[in-house]
Amino acid sequence: MARLRVYELARKLNMPPKELLQELEELGVSVKNHMSFVDEEIANIIIDLLEEGKEKKSKQPSKPRKDDEEEIEKEITEKKKKRKISLKPDELKLDIVAEKLGIPQNKIIQDMFVKRGLALRPGQILKLEEVEQILKEYKAEIELEEEKAGEEEVDDFELLERRFQELYEREEDKLVPRPPVVTVMGHVDHGKTTLLDRIRSTRVAEREEGGITQSIGAYQVEVNGRKITFIDTPGHELFTEMRARGAQATDIVVLVVAADDGVMPQTIEAYNHAKSANVPIIVAINKIDKPNANVEKTKQELVEKLGLIPEEWGGDTVVVPISAKTGQGVDELLEMILLVADMNEIKCYPEGPARAVIIESKLDKKMGPVASVIVKDGVLKVGDAVVASNTYGKVRNLFDDRMRSIREAHPSQPVMILGFEDVPDVHSNVYVVESVEKAKEIVEKRREKLESQKFGKKHVNLEELMKMMKEKDKKILNIIVKADTYGSVAALRNAINKLQSREIELNIVHAGVGEISTSDIMLAAAVDAVVLGFRVKVNSKARKLAEQEGVDVRTYSIIYKLVDDLKLALEGMLEPEEVEEIIGHGEIKRVFKISKVGKVAGVQMLDGKADKSGFVRLYRNGQLVFEGKIESLKHYKEDVNVVEAPQECGIKLSGFDDIQEGDELEFYVIRKVKRKPTFVEESQKNLSEQQQ
Ligand code: GDP
Repeated sequence: MARLRVYELARKLNMPPKELLQELEELGVSVKNHMSFVDEEIANIIIDLLEEGKEKKSKQPSKPRKDDEEEIEKEITEKKKKRKISLKPDELKLDIVAEKLGIPQNKIIQDMFVKRGLALRPGQILKLEEVEQILKEYKAEIELEEEKAGEEEVDDFELLERRFQELYEREEDKLVPRPPVVTVMGHVDHGKTTLLDRIRSTRVAEREEGGITQSIGAYQVEVNGRKITFIDTPGHELFTEMRARGAQATDIVVLVVAADDGVMPQTIEAYNHAKSANVPIIVAINKIDKPNANVEKTKQELVEKLGLIPEEWGGDTVVVPISAKTGQGVDELLEMILLVADMNEIKCYPEGPARAVIIESKLDKKMGPVASVIVKDGVLKVGDAVVASNTYGKVRNLFDDRMRSIREAHPSQPVMILGFEDVPDVHSNVYVVESVEKAKEIVEKRREKLESQKFGKKHVNLEELMKMMKEKDKKILNIIVKADTYGSVAALRNAINKLQSREIELNIVHAGVGEISTSDIMLAAAVDAVVLGFRVKVNSKARKLAEQEGVDVRTYSIIYKLVDDLKLALEGMLEPEEVEEIIGHGEIKRVFKISKVGKVAGVQMLDGKADKSGFVRLYRNGQLVFEGKIESLKHYKEDVNVVEAPQECGIKLSGFDDIQEGDELEFYVIRKVKRKPTFVEESQKNLSEQQQ
């Protein structure tokens, strides 16, 4: 029976695949993902159902719901569009956040409980994670005012990048699809170059140009009227280096695995590099023309060694058997690239000044400094003023991938730029700015700054982990492991996994056998990982690169030393835990109404003390009515910081006036205590055995 991919069905129904997946789930049709197949019969039923549903929805008069609820919902949808709130660190409280969002506090409490299982109380002091969840729910953004202090550090070049990030977030509706940019990776001799040549020669009618082709580092081909860009230089080293420089160009990785050789060490390495970048992977099983090719066995290895399950086996990895030599299967591979591109919504911001990634740069004898770039956003034009990380210029000329002079280049198009003052740093970004003067100014400022900082970027190191993690607000320690044998790798994996704690996730980005190489360092720089070597050496190039990049590399010959170091680092990493300490109680004896100030409580302290810098809870008939800060604390007429029992005092609560005689007050402060991670399992015992 004919089958249809979920993705294709979505197209038929003219709805986003994600939505269709949801609908299917609701209808009880079990599918794994966009690539899964649906029988035609079922597909037809679904089409009928959904079409019917649509009609109904549009015909149905809106049910009169509870009016006020509807009002609130409407208002919230309105507000969702543009909210960006700024908060001072001491304003992380539910009532304040609610007010800033313009959403009733109770509505937030209800939503957060129902949708996210988060129980909140009115006026509660919120943890940062809780604020984030709330903001996520209402699609708002937070700007912590404290952070502003650090902004002087950011140079113009970084601001240019940030501008694009903001555009993407703010004007999501203006983003449009662009052709995918593909990098081919895999083990040496598995056929990467042959595949790239094959695609290029069959798809690009270059002979019409006289046959002279000079590679500019990438080329574009057309498949079914749509374009795909291929980066010419295969391999994961380049890919990761670009990433480490903050200039990721690749949207899709084609992992080439020879059917006569199977998954090899560099296949694994390439896979880990691609995976850590979260780039979708298509596997091309190559050399199927060879008599000793074994496609099934290769697929088996994909599952066993990489955990990639081919979609025909129920997984979600697209696997295409090909022969780069004969061309068999190559067309299907290209179609699959387009399919995966559609599913991953590869987009760009098409208007405005361009942004591009440099994939190659050099000093050409005739043309001077040249840079090959792939345009990411906007339109790059002759005459544009451009900056790269180390230099600037005015675009004098543009050449496309067949060295034809062109006037402008569009997103995903590879193009060579002439006109830079100097050879720009390869693998950095290029931005168009308003004038050459501005470009020059940006670069000069940046140069000065770089000169004043002797060393390059600093990445994670074990000692400074705590600080780094705090800044990044994430609790993942990325680790790259290199060891002398597969046995050691397994033992290390095991030992590291036993160190997993509830608070911090240890993520082994890559583990392999052999010395620590430059590609390990680049990966570490790209993902902010530490590199741990066990009974292996660091090759000299890698050591130098690690120094330049500020990557922490450590080598060990005894496992327990390695584990000990990690443990210590993890302890240091933990943020202090916040514990609440109740310091006193009081009762409201009288309520004073003071014009312009509001209501002030005349409080009898019952035990302990009230501290103005702390917090207070107000209970009425045993139920919490308010929690928050003390706006003013008075003893007789004087402003004081602390009042101790059995004194009396006057308290004005911050942002809360609904106080009554008889209300009970509980005063508390928040203390930070250092905590140790709770290991899932203690690891020390078996380590010496594992070493063997
Ligand atoms: P790379 O190192 O991954 O770039 O591999 P190459 O493209 O240089 O290919 C290595 C060798 O495998 C070359 O001798 C190619 O001719 C050969 N090769 C590549 N693809 C195929 C194929 O599909 N079938 C056969 N039989 N040989 C291939």
